[in-house]
Amino acid sequence: MLIGGLQKFSLIDYPGKICAIIFTQGCDFLCPYCHNPELVEPKLFSQPIPEDEIFSFLERRKGKLEAVEITGGEPTLQPDLIEFTEKIKDMGFLVKLDSNGTNPNIVEKAIKNKLVNYLAMDIKAPLEKYSDVVKVNVDTDKIKRSINLIMNSGIDYELRTTVVKSLLSKDDLRKIGELIQGGRLHILQKFVPSKLLDPKFSKETNYSDEEFEEFKQMMLNYVEKCVIR
Ligand code: SF4
Repeated sequence: MLIGGLQKFSLIDYPGKICAIIFTQGCDFLCPYCHNPELVEPKLFSQPIPEDEIFSFLERRKGKLEAVEITGGEPTLQPDLIEFTEKIKDMGFLVKLDSNGTNPNIVEKAIKNKLVNYLAMDIKAPLEKYSDVVKVNVDTDKIKRSINLIMNSGIDYELRTTVVKSLLSKDDLRKIGELIQGGRLHILQKFVPSKLLDPKFSKETNYSDEEFEEFKQMMLNYVEKCVIR
């Protein structure tokens, strides 16, 4: 595993649980609004944290931390993700896995082997706009398959969309709603112009609170719950 970061404590990233967050290096998307460029741009990668350090940290936190979130970058690009996740499960932690959905086979394996307790997937755009938004060519059949796997997994999950005004219109969000129809939870994430993969995006503006509320009401035609974050 190429691990670029470890956040030792979070109360907000695993719903209702105290968790640590492991950040993997490498991503197959180039979302311009990405706020983790150091996990996406190989030339910005730091020296990876050895796995031993991660496991000895988790060993010391047994009984204090309840869960571990594995995020990125894109964790499913790591060839040993499944084995790594197994070890964390064997230590007694709940596991949350974040993915952009490009590797449904890995998502499926994690679900089938009961290695994850919570899944989070980014829904970047309506399928026909995916490649435009993430700035690489995307096999959207894989995205669709990941969505279906997650929605039918029987485990807790969230689907989330970063809403950047210049990239997604209200109609795009409606199409996302159709794509995830019947879903449990959709999160509309406001764009935060901080550290960005494409610095030009720092000039982006957000939709207003009223517009977000309108989007939320529209998404509730498709999903059980919608949250603005
Ligand atoms: S936002 Fe996520 S999927 Fe997009 S480039 Fe960043 S890490 Fe990759």
